[in-house]
Amino acid sequence: MSTFDSATLAPVKNVVIAGGGTAGWMAAIALVKLLGKSLNITLVESKDIGIIGVGEATIPPIRTFHKLLNIDEKAFMKATQATFKLGIEFEGWREENHSYIHSFGVTGRECWAGEFHHFWLRAQKLGFGGEFGDYCPELQAAKANKFFTNESMPLNFAYHFDAVAYGRFLRTLATEAGVHHIVGNITNVSKCSQTGNLTSLQVDESQEVNGDFFIDCTGFKGLLIEQALHTGYDNWSHYLPCDSAVAMQTETVAAPVPYTKSSAHKAGWRWQIPLQHRVGNGLVYCSKYMSDDEAKSTLVQQVEGEPVNDARFIKFTPGKRRLGWNKNCVALGLASGFIEPLESTSIHLIMTGIVRLMRLFPFDGVTQSAIDEYNTKYDSEMAAILDFIVMHYKVTNREDSPFWQHCKNMPIPPSLTHKLNLFKDTGRVFLDDGDIFRVDSWTQVMLGQGLTPNQYHKVADEMSEAELERFMMGLKQQVDIQVSRLPSHQAFLDKYLAVNSRA
Ligand code: FAD
Repeated sequence: MSTFDSATLAPVKNVVIAGGGTAGWMAAIALVKLLGKSLNITLVESKDIGIIGVGEATIPPIRTFHKLLNIDEKAFMKATQATFKLGIEFEGWREENHSYIHSFGVTGRECWAGEFHHFWLRAQKLGFGGEFGDYCPELQAAKANKFFTNESMPLNFAYHFDAVAYGRFLRTLATEAGVHHIVGNITNVSKCSQTGNLTSLQVDESQEVNGDFFIDCTGFKGLLIEQALHTGYDNWSHYLPCDSAVAMQTETVAAPVPYTKSSAHKAGWRWQIPLQHRVGNGLVYCSKYMSDDEAKSTLVQQVEGEPVNDARFIKFTPGKRRLGWNKNCVALGLASGFIEPLESTSIHLIMTGIVRLMRLFPFDGVTQSAIDEYNTKYDSEMAAILDFIVMHYKVTNREDSPFWQHCKNMPIPPSLTHKLNLFKDTGRVFLDDGDIFRVDSWTQVMLGQGLTPNQYHKVADEMSEAELERFMMGLKQQVDIQVSRLPSHQAFLDKYLAVNSRA
């Protein structure tokens, strides 16, 4: 039943965004460009409280977001020192000396009855077929450090970029498009004593910023959604043991590869994100099994180039806000929760939150039905990502440290147990409604982590053994030929970014 009386609904005209990190500026640019004629948008950010500055790896739907906002790719890439990303290499996740790539794109060919991996599984049983990744152009291009894109060769890709520069880039576009920008510290959040809705932000001592609707992008602290509205947080640390990270940027020592590197260590994992001008590095770890000092010294020993800044520690609690939308406030970015940096889903979730909010935008007043719709979708999206991330820790042969022994024995969500059993027993992949990862992703990671199905779909038996062998060889040859013609990632970047952009 609706808790809002439609007769008393207050129209929404003035939107206030609190926070100017990636989430704040993504929300600002999207709202002003797409709904700017109906809304006044103000963004308040502190110059004293910095942004988190570490979210630098993305997944392909960010390109759709940029297209929607008419953001010029070359201008964006130049401004943010971006490189192309075709996937993630997982080193030491299945066992210490093993690595695989989870790439974007399609592996093999899609078939209406059963996915490509069933044909590959049958080929494996018959003793041919090679590696699963042999059939994915994005994966092979990543391995060969190659890249190319145009309309006739649509590799599926995302970007690595400098997060601070991305915020600056979006800020310029958003303020030019009409976002009112206030720099100052939010010192108080006022609420209506009757409805509990937010009414204004006190900025420093001098300014009160009133709003009809608020977007909380203040990072982990959730100044509006938590500190003012006491929404509550679902803590998922029983599923996700890592709670700390130490980050450091280093000089570039080699041409950037078109993939993120994720290397497992005895108490978590390490990331390497190559940009044009530097590399972003970080060690993610579980504080129960590794001290901050050990984490920092491990990172310092393992980075390849000279550090360009001091190591910075970040503490987090994996989980999500109980409600992504509460009263007249939506939380985006870290204010709405944080699962884990593995698989680079956080910036993507900012985007899906923005799109969902825009579709449900309460121009004529906030209704409970819109809030419920937003939160149901938000919950299912977060739950599906949780399953996908937990799988990396759970499906492994590693037991070589107390951390990995903990992962082996930790509980997992029942929905993930079902997905793993289904794949193991039948080779079938189950996707939740809100799942942002496709069958290709689930299959690559489950196989990569060492989970091999006992069965395959019998559609693969429709071919004779000889036909199957020809089919597989043909597909592999196509991939090999396509990849052999690609330039190196660096050569492509140099050429592509030398051509003038719109902005
Ligand atoms: P923040 O960057 O923390 O910004 C908060 C803003 O709020 C700032 O502008 C600050 O000034 C403002 N603010 C706070 N308090 C006040 C106040 N009182 N008054 C005024 N302003 C205030 N995501 C990915 O997609 N890919 C990745 O590879 C990735 N890696 C990550 C690695 C780690 C270790 C972590 C912790 C996160 C990672 N993320 C990643 C997540 C990503 O960093 C965030 O989703 C993204 O940066 C958005 O952050 P944010 O804007 O929500 O918060």
